[in-house]
Amino acid sequence: MTQFEALNLIGGEWQPAQSGAWGTRRDPADGASLGRHAASACADADAAIAAARRAFDQPGWAQNPRLRQMVMLRWADRLEARAEELARLLTRENGKVIAQSRGEISGAISEIRYYAGLTRYLPGHVLEVEPGAFSTLLKEPAGVAGIIVPWNAPAVLLIRSLTPALAAGCTTVIKPAPQTALITAALVAELHAIEGLPAGVVNLVSEDGHEVAARLVESTDIDVISFTGSNATGQRIMAAAAPTMKKLSLELGGKSSCLVFEDADVQAVAPALASAATIISGQQCTAARRVLVHAKHYDAMKVALTAALRSLKVASGMSEGAQIGPMIDDDAARNVGQRIEEAMDAADEVLLRGGRGVGVLSGGAFLTPTLVAHRDTSAFFVQEEIFGPLLVLERFEDEVEAVARANHSEFGLSASVWTRDGARALRVARALRNGTVWINDHNKLFAEAETGGYRRSGLGRLHGYDALIDFQEIKHIYQQVGTL
Ligand code: NAD
Repeated sequence: MTQFEALNLIGGEWQPAQSGAWGTRRDPADGASLGRHAASACADADAAIAAARRAFDQPGWAQNPRLRQMVMLRWADRLEARAEELARLLTRENGKVIAQSRGEISGAISEIRYYAGLTRYLPGHVLEVEPGAFSTLLKEPAGVAGIIVPWNAPAVLLIRSLTPALAAGCTTVIKPAPQTALITAALVAELHAIEGLPAGVVNLVSEDGHEVAARLVESTDIDVISFTGSNATGQRIMAAAAPTMKKLSLELGGKSSCLVFEDADVQAVAPALASAATIISGQQCTAARRVLVHAKHYDAMKVALTAALRSLKVASGMSEGAQIGPMIDDDAARNVGQRIEEAMDAADEVLLRGGRGVGVLSGGAFLTPTLVAHRDTSAFFVQEEIFGPLLVLERFEDEVEAVARANHSEFGLSASVWTRDGARALRVARALRNGTVWINDHNKLFAEAETGGYRRSGLGRLHGYDALIDFQEIKHIYQQVGTL
């Protein structure tokens, strides 16, 4: 079996960790060895930060949008030529089913092209504030960006932070999740190979723990942290970044509600919600977690949703027809499985009892889906982000109750509204306190549309034009030139 190696990329050179330490990667579907990654420490982080700083202080990248666009377009072409190979590596390392990996790689390529286009359109503006007094508002790159990404969608989550950073003219240090260091290095290798990319613009440092990430956050030479991950880590980062007052973009957890009204077609909606809940085995920030259904359809939804979840095929992500792959690793399967057990013990009703995979699945980190029904919105499993295949069914009597239930959450990442009544759809979408609301769909995320959280789901937006804001400063240049 091919073994992969993720070295660090520092100042344009691939290199092992200075300590010579390695971490190992295994396929979560069967435990097979996949390869190894540099297990770096603070010294490696410091070298990468210094390289990124030097590269930023030259005009060759930060002030050269045409070069930046050319590099990104060529990178997209190189990735496209290897798309299938990259999708297979993504599935081997992360576990997600191959169709989802193909979608993720093609979405990532599309997003690189989107930001390549924006690179040539970063206008500021000029005002004459009084006769002969001009104010120029110039958009400048913010500096060196530290990019810290999780393992659940390592390609698209890397690219949605890295490409607006590069488009804006920042230089970067990437810190991947240990679980997906190999696919990250494979993606970065195609960028590094492009002639014309100045050394030090893109640096990559892998690690087993969190020492490198913490160093990026505390460093005075890092100007922006773009972080995607859990609330616990996001809060730690916000506190640790305070002394250096760096710019922060935090894309954190969620607990998506799906509101199904009395005019919706339950038989059509239930399979869509089952897929939305089990995408990446339920390990997606926007995955459907709570289904709120009008009383008229409550009993029908119980039956339809149970059947839809039960019919999903749980298998290795590489196998034909698989719809749910393994969890990221055994620890996740054990810990999330334990929390789901506790939810089943506390719920009003257990409609589908999931658990660890048996038989051919017993060698991997598999969890089959669970569906519970519950009334009290303050229950821990209605409030907490449980990062796996657990869905909670709730009942409401009218629009006001539906919105009140959905808004009873500390999160505010995403939600969906299922109805044929267009006015209701918009009215309810407006009332939900979420960064994204889908109407008659779920989990639609793409390059052109800003994504981010209300409340404790985070700060800032990624995707779309406004993602550039996280990586830019606005400079006011004033000059009194007089009048004729
Ligand atoms: P995590 O917070 O454990 O790890 C994310 C990254 O942070 C990893 O690279 C990790 O090494 C690093 N990290 C860990 N401790 C750190 C520290 N003290 N300082 C700096 N960096 C540190 O999250 P995870 O378990 O890998 O990812 C799952 C979480 O990510 C879920 O909560 C999910 O909702 C969230 N997520 C959010 C979005 C979004 O768009 N809002 C997208 C994907 C995932």
